[in-house]
Amino acid sequence: MSQSNITSSLSSHVPSHILGYPRIGDKRQTKFALERYWKGKQDKETTRQAIDQVFNANIQHQINADLDIITTGDFAHYDLVLTQATAFGVCPERFKGAKQLDTFDRQFYFARGRDHTGKLEDAAAWQMTKWFDTNYHYLVPELAADEAFSDLDFSEIFKQVEDAKAVLAANNLQDKTLKVVLVGPVSFLYLATSKLEHKLQHLGKLLPVYAKLLNELGEKGVDWVQLDEPILALDLDPTWQQAFERAYNGLQQTPPQLIVACYFDSLGNNCNIACNLPINGLHIDLTRSDNPKQYALQVIDQLPIHKVLSLGVVDGRSVWTTDIAKYQQLLIEANERLNGTKSIEHERLWVGTGASLLHLPVDISLEQLPSELEGKLAFAKQKLFEVALCAEVASGEVSSEQVAAQTKAINLTPLAGKAEVRQGQFDERYAKQQQALNLPLLPTTTIGSFPQTSEIRRARHQWNKGEISDSEYQQLIKQEIERCVQNQQKLGLDVLVHGEAERTDMVEYFAQYLEGFWLSSNGWVQSYGTRCVRPPIVVGDISRPNAMTVEWTTYAQSLTDKPIKGMLTGPVTILNWSFAPSDTATRDILRLQIAEAINQEVNDLQQAGIKIIQIDEPAFREGLPLKKVEQDHYWKQAVSAFKHAASSANEQTQIHTHMCYSSFHDCLPHIQNMDADVITIETARSGLQLLDAFKTDKEQDGHQGYRNAIGPGVYDIHSPRAPDSEAMQVVIEAASKYIPVERLWINPDCGLKTRNWQEVTEQLTNMVEMTKVVRQKHLV
Ligand code: GLN
Ligand code: ZN
Repeated sequence: MSQSNITSSLSSHVPSHILGYPRIGDKRQTKFALERYWKGKQDKETTRQAIDQVFNANIQHQINADLDIITTGDFAHYDLVLTQATAFGVCPERFKGAKQLDTFDRQFYFARGRDHTGKLEDAAAWQMTKWFDTNYHYLVPELAADEAFSDLDFSEIFKQVEDAKAVLAANNLQDKTLKVVLVGPVSFLYLATSKLEHKLQHLGKLLPVYAKLLNELGEKGVDWVQLDEPILALDLDPTWQQAFERAYNGLQQTPPQLIVACYFDSLGNNCNIACNLPINGLHIDLTRSDNPKQYALQVIDQLPIHKVLSLGVVDGRSVWTTDIAKYQQLLIEANERLNGTKSIEHERLWVGTGASLLHLPVDISLEQLPSELEGKLAFAKQKLFEVALCAEVASGEVSSEQVAAQTKAINLTPLAGKAEVRQGQFDERYAKQQQALNLPLLPTTTIGSFPQTSEIRRARHQWNKGEISDSEYQQLIKQEIERCVQNQQKLGLDVLVHGEAERTDMVEYFAQYLEGFWLSSNGWVQSYGTRCVRPPIVVGDISRPNAMTVEWTTYAQSLTDKPIKGMLTGPVTILNWSFAPSDTATRDILRLQIAEAINQEVNDLQQAGIKIIQIDEPAFREGLPLKKVEQDHYWKQAVSAFKHAASSANEQTQIHTHMCYSSFHDCLPHIQNMDADVITIETARSGLQLLDAFKTDKEQDGHQGYRNAIGPGVYDIHSPRAPDSEAMQVVIEAASKYIPVERLWINPDCGLKTRNWQEVTEQLTNMVEMTKVVRQKHLV
């Protein structure tokens, strides 16, 4: 379509906005400020000033990109769900005295289980869970049976409104449209835990809180409130669907206009409900839809004519520049449909990000890009300009040529399908392996990493800066491996590891050796609280030019007669913890390419005499699509990628895998299908119910239980304390009810890299002692 006939009927300018922005700051200022504050090295005022600067910059960036609607309220010091729950007066009973703290300090007490001012006693931190299918974690509000949502304190939310207004005023833009982001009431309850039979029973008390908050935001001159209802992307049962109507009927009298946002997937069966809520606008995410045009038009058809529709076309989870050409026609058509024949005063089409930009690194201009990536990548700050451009495209202000020039996609060569499986049946393999390895009953092992000491981190830093040579660095790593192997021998563990001293991160380490990944130097993304990760970026076909772990693993093996377990990260986890295209077909190819690389590594380790190889898959469940219809495909692909990675192992080589901090109840059959010889799994933290999933109870629902070997984590590695022998025995005894002792292993919950050597030594000493006791019991 040429530009002239695009603009003819339309004089409107389509407003642009975002759903949210990273809070960490372009140089992780928020993280550093908070960590200094918690350590008592910086007072509250200085800390807040540092964070306010990040906040103000976030508003200023939106202004600089010329966005029409300025978004605030999405900023959180730890997590947005936590901020909101704290503002609503949620305070689990065990946090005695928490109300003495202001809401700024109280949220940290809840999240960390520790009052950094030292006045209040430690208590178990709020549970943390993955935010839908992202690697971001939110804090789960715990609602009491009689939760009153009293003691409201909206000051942190209001401060963001005032601060945003001040930045606008400083730019002489007092009249700009201001939008506040809140988690909507239905998703808020869905994500919480409650002592009541049904969480929706809290709705009656919660709605007046929202109404009050919205009212007060209206009084402060806020034009719009974006109520995030991401659960609209899930397959909801009728009770939850109906809750939407009830909730929004209860809110409709409020003065700011309301827009409900659904992201991470399409509305699916909830489309009709979402379109007809008594609100002023609806936001949908087109970036996760296979057929964005059909999806947008379907919503346009159903949306009552006075309502605003916000189309999310800039992917808040992709580091690639937006393929605007893909959306051009759709945006123009949507504009015509929504605004063309209107008798309504306001613009009915908005253009925005699919989801919040929270899940992206902040600024690509801080990177030294290789020339082939020049112009291809866009982080959060760059996405702001893309949003503005998309709005112009929708308004018909940009020619197709200009749009085409913008797009630079990643091209992949489809893989000639290699998805092999291992030889042999588990029972036979396992018998051969255990015999060859000569292991005792209930063998003891660890999950892979040992303490990452400050010396190692300092050495790596110096090496990266070129201050120490390659050989000096390698020497230091070797010394660390020696110490690690010797210590494990002293502890009397049965299967040893090299300790992962050379790894910063279990995904980044492999990505740096693999062809097809690019590593940023500053591309940090918030994972939870002040913890940030730097996901590698897939830039092309993935392959393995050289062995990645063989040297360190064989060095460790040369130091001991006990078996050293080689340590690899699995293909599913590497892909899930990287930035890669979001479409299923591309991801399926990439996962198998990574699987092939790991397969080659398994082969090399085996050739070099390593008898046990662990392929970690902590993120195995994380990429599970939100919609049930797509889940089977995912499981199939994930399992076959893992199996391909392991398939170069011969029958005598024992393959382990490890998973943690995920819910396993719905994935047991898939874990079984992975057919790892041994799975070590976190159990101490998620409670023993987790073991129920592994039951070998043939009576029940024809459920077969888990047939391979398993090492249930016997203690929580997050605690610095030495675990209690009895508590560990409880785990083993519980597991042995379901799984024959011959197939049980003893290990901690997860890697030990965040602990120090003293803690690790005490903990593992207890674990080995406990094992001796339990072994005696089972041998007699
Ligand atoms: N092998 C890794 C380690 O021990 C596993 C980490 C994880 O499960 N996240 O650190
Ligand atoms: Zn783990």
